[in-house]
Amino acid sequence: MKNWYLFVLIIIFNFSIHAQKLSKTEKRIITLVETNDKEAILLLEKIVNINSGTLNLEGVKKVGDVLSKEFKKIGFKSSWKEVPLEMNRAGHLFCEIETGKVKGKKILLIGHLDTVFERDSEFQEFSRDGNKIFGPGVDDMKGGDIIILFALKALYQADVLKNTQIIVAFTGDEEKAGEPIEISRKDLIDAAKRSDIALAFEGATGLNYATVARRSSGSWLLKTTGVRAHSSGIFNEKVGAGAIFEMSRILNEFYTQLPEKNLTFNPATVVGGTTIDFDTSQAKGTTYGKTNIVSQKSIVAGDIRCLTEEQIQKTVLKMKEIVANNLPGTSATIEFELTYPPMQPTSGNYEVLKVLDEISQDMEQGPVAAFDPSKRGAGDISFVAKYVDGLDGLGTMGGGSHTPKEYMDLENFKVLTQRAALLIYRLINQKGDN
Ligand SMILES: [Zn+2]
Repeated sequence: MKNWYLFVLIIIFNFSIHAQKLSKTEKRIITLVETNDKEAILLLEKIVNINSGTLNLEGVKKVGDVLSKEFKKIGFKSSWKEVPLEMNRAGHLFCEIETGKVKGKKILLIGHLDTVFERDSEFQEFSRDGNKIFGPGVDDMKGGDIIILFALKALYQADVLKNTQIIVAFTGDEEKAGEPIEISRKDLIDAAKRSDIALAFEGATGLNYATVARRSSGSWLLKTTGVRAHSSGIFNEKVGAGAIFEMSRILNEFYTQLPEKNLTFNPATVVGGTTIDFDTSQAKGTTYGKTNIVSQKSIVAGDIRCLTEEQIQKTVLKMKEIVANNLPGTSATIEFELTYPPMQPTSGNYEVLKVLDEISQDMEQGPVAAFDPSKRGAGDISFVAKYVDGLDGLGTMGGGSHTPKEYMDLENFKVLTQRAALLIYRLINQKGDN
């Protein structure tokens, strides 16, 4: 009897500890997200049914217009950032709230309006099957955009957005960033320079992981040349090894000498022979060469992904060294183009993760740990990572991204929105640097 009494007491005690961890305001925010849930899904359906392939400029702008109206309703000013006509991109939607003297952290929230599904794609419509929602961009990342909006809507309704600065950036060309990057990402970088913390809402990797680091992304083009001669003379002093043996030496040395943690490099296309033609923009090539002629030219196009600036520099240097160590009668060059910088796993990013981890535990959903960066590609947050602390992977849970089977899991949608709202709430109440 006595033991039984103690047991009940312990349960009540445990329960009250957890219950106290979420403040009254936070509980109200959670309820508000819950109340708005149906409306959120309806709006998601609306924007998924507007085609916004990156090159459908009117479509991207249309999705932006729908969101812009919603943000105005919750006290945000919005503006459309045009990009030069020759870039053939729609531009970006920026929404901002600034209410008096900012007390806590200044927040930048990142989403994108475009999808990989252009107008000629077979995949155009929103559909629902039980707890799964299918549709182009539903997971990458219109669902994430809706999470941003409805997290902020709950904060607005709870009247906690006073003395804050929050910028929401929806890029219109995340899937195929406009060139040059310095122009297409200028507005995003400017917004980051005025902010303390960036939160990006690309797809979540479960409730118990978030992204504190993303690898860089870039490409390389390797060219080799050899002496054109009759094949019977290959390896002799005048002819040497030929362009293709030189290419295979280089690739083999990349393969055997470069591998290390968080680094990948992928030779994707190879063309070699007597005369070759390779169009990098189309990733297409042709070659001509008879078997009795030593190869004169070859080209390989590949990519490279690194976790840190230091790793990029070190790897590029080593690749150049390998390329320069030519076989007899050959020469080789390599050029690099780095598109996305890395989001490095800084201590500041881990601080933001800690806040999310506490929220998750307070909501009794278990701890949140850092997701393995080698399992993720690059994202828009990478462009601002060196100016702000940040966290990514706060969007929807789902799968099949970039395929006609893309879906979003409805089961966790509300919870992810609630967590996003609390994360923003706690950060705007965290003492800022200014
Ligand atoms: Zn995306």
